[in-house]
Amino acid sequence: MKTYLCATCGVQYPPSVQPPAHCPICEDERQYLPVTGQRWLDYAECAQSQRSVYLEEEPGLLAISLEPGIGIRQRTALIHTPNGNVLWECIPVIHDETVQRINALGGIQAISLSHPHFQSAIAEWSATFNNAPIYIHESDRQWIQRDTGHVRYWSGERQSLMDGLTLVNCGGHFDGSSVLHWRDGAAGAGALFTGDTITVVEDRRWVSFMRSYPNLIPLPPGKIRQIVGRVSDLTFDRLYSSWTGAVVRSDAHAAVTRSAERYIRAISD
Ligand SMILES: [Zn+2]
Ligand SMILES: [Zn+2]
Repeated sequence: MKTYLCATCGVQYPPSVQPPAHCPICEDERQYLPVTGQRWLDYAECAQSQRSVYLEEEPGLLAISLEPGIGIRQRTALIHTPNGNVLWECIPVIHDETVQRINALGGIQAISLSHPHFQSAIAEWSATFNNAPIYIHESDRQWIQRDTGHVRYWSGERQSLMDGLTLVNCGGHFDGSSVLHWRDGAAGAGALFTGDTITVVEDRRWVSFMRSYPNLIPLPPGKIRQIVGRVSDLTFDRLYSSWTGAVVRSDAHAAVTRSAERYIRAISD
């Protein structure tokens, strides 16, 4: 048996003799299959061919990505606090050095994702770190490809992971799309981790919102207002989406508001 990863999205499937028949994540209109067709990677070979890159983004925030990278080149972030540690988003491969670095910071008490495009090897991460619970909004249950019994589907608009770290369901990109609020991030000014729910664009003073990024399918005004409404009472000055460098360093709360207004103007008559 091998553990296969989808080469296009990086999602890991349950161990099997043959590669899976389909990747429902890539067959969905928000993703895509390459013109050359579906391709599968063996996890063990990926662990050999990839290396992990570590970046201390700010005190308490360790980002880890893979080089040369797999799939949509997700990155993961370990938020380590006196109250415990949260792994936000997952990457497809866990190297021994990653385990050592994270254990030296106190391990992982909770794992969560912005949405199913960042699930990659969630089951592998949980198993490696003492079966840490994986928090996923119940609206995205159908998209989870490998649940070994440690996924905790949550419902409603907010879920506290620990003191100072709270999930907020915003919807939009996926119905279960959520952001993570880190009260003490950005030197106490607050930070928001947004994945594809709110994406940082090339002009780092602005953000955007889409149903599909690769296929350029926008969201309607009502969904934009819903996303902004769900984060409006949060205090945050910094905003990270889930790629290295994709960060609004300051004034992020105002950036979300003005970007939503610009977006709604752009898609309205
Ligand atoms: Zn896929
Ligand atoms: Zn996505």
